[in-house]
Amino acid sequence: MKICFVSSECVPYAKTGGLADVSGALPKALAESGMEVKTFLPLYSSIQTEDYDLKPDISNQGIRIHMGRLSHDFNAWKGHLPNSKAEVYFIDCPTFYHRGELYTNQLDEAERFIFFQQAVLRILQNEHWAPDIIHCNDWQTALIPALLKMSYKWDALFKNTKSLLSIHNIGYQGRFSRDSIYGAGLPYKYYYPGGPFEFYDSFCFLKTGIMFADKISTVSQTYAKEIQTPEFGAALEGVLHDRKKDLLGILNGIDSSVWNPLSDKHIPQNYSFDSFLKKKKNKQALLDAFALPFDTKTPTIGIVSRLAIQKGFDIFKPVLEKILRNDVQFVILGTGEPEYEEFLQNMALKYPGKIAVTIGFNEGLAHQITAGADMFLMPSQYEPCGLNQMYSLNYGTVPIVRQTGGLADTVTDFTQFPTKGNGITFSEYTSDELFQAVERALKLFKNKQNWKKMVSRGMGEDFSWKASAAKYIKLYQQSKLIKQESESIKDKIYD
Ligand code: ADP
Repeated sequence: MKICFVSSECVPYAKTGGLADVSGALPKALAESGMEVKTFLPLYSSIQTEDYDLKPDISNQGIRIHMGRLSHDFNAWKGHLPNSKAEVYFIDCPTFYHRGELYTNQLDEAERFIFFQQAVLRILQNEHWAPDIIHCNDWQTALIPALLKMSYKWDALFKNTKSLLSIHNIGYQGRFSRDSIYGAGLPYKYYYPGGPFEFYDSFCFLKTGIMFADKISTVSQTYAKEIQTPEFGAALEGVLHDRKKDLLGILNGIDSSVWNPLSDKHIPQNYSFDSFLKKKKNKQALLDAFALPFDTKTPTIGIVSRLAIQKGFDIFKPVLEKILRNDVQFVILGTGEPEYEEFLQNMALKYPGKIAVTIGFNEGLAHQITAGADMFLMPSQYEPCGLNQMYSLNYGTVPIVRQTGGLADTVTDFTQFPTKGNGITFSEYTSDELFQAVERALKLFKNKQNWKKMVSRGMGEDFSWKASAAKYIKLYQQSKLIKQESESIKDKIYD
């Protein structure tokens, strides 16, 4: 099967969050399962072509894309995902992608990603490569299903091409001015209140994707159910509910060549469950680096996160000082909303020796915290999948999480289910429940026997991509079979 995987970020080239991890790992797993995979990514200025042995793609140079009255040219670059047969194409257009950051609030944000999606389809045409599936990810690539069914319908190349839209976070929807419809080359007549393109008086890329994709997936089974409810659906719950039949949750895997305590290149001491005592050296190195006192009896709680409300910092903030009254330390790495950056930095100044904070994005430190901490805190308001709890489980670092989305699907509370629990969970999104959960974890930490049971279960969990990739392949196969049904969806919407 031929799979075209389109994403706005991908490890190791460009990353702001979990989407990049998925985009780096899933195509690799698909290629290992015998799929022919081409991945597409913008060539951001932060990507150094020589670092990844990328070469200009001679057959795709100087291609002009028209977007309404605007037109720009791009060149493509090509390489392979590290240690993989999966090809990666990069869309090189400095006007759009040399911005210092992946995503912006600038006026042409819609055009940046319209251009990207058009460029992908143009390369496929140039290459005469007809994918069975175009796998789109999040709003930045969510117009492709509509483009295929309208603007590119004339091209027999795409006659049998189906589309899958994966939603990694419903909170990011790509809402822009209606004028962008012209730039996208889509018919304006589908923009009307409640229509396929319209969402609260804006042209919404994600809603358009949900309406036109042949299949929709999201990154955990629980989140697939949650986003059909008003609490989690970010106002798209109705649209998603209408497409319920085509919506599936597939839990992300983790890239065990990158996140494995036995071979992790970023940590001072590799270890496994059999050599668990060695983990202590990682704790010592981590605390030394942050000038925090080391004591095996004092539990260290790690956090690696975007500092956003979504991640639970609004319920964490009111109870942090109360938690710090215990014998406990925090090592926190994150970047995001200024309110939380400032708060955490102030806490670190107020409680030296108890809490260390690094503001920034640091891949190596993320690994060191995961390996060095005893516990890992994720009190998320919502969490489509979450990767850090899976990393932590495999590193023997007990997760304390709110029971939502992928956290609910991967972490089982030890106090409630002593025979299968692998971590600590709480359900209500309140500071009080968060506090109680941390207290329970601190108490359990003192019971070495129970702690070891939790650790052994977590380290034994298999989160490798193999199982999840097999589910995607099954979904691709189903997409190919739904020809008649998808025709009828299409008819209902715009014929
Ligand atoms: P999200 O995509 O919502 O941010 P995920 O848990 O799915 O959350 O993925 C986050 C990924 O980004 C993980 O690999 C995590 O380790 C990483 N990450 C988040 N913040 C940082 C940071 N400040 N420095 C390094 N890595 C980070």
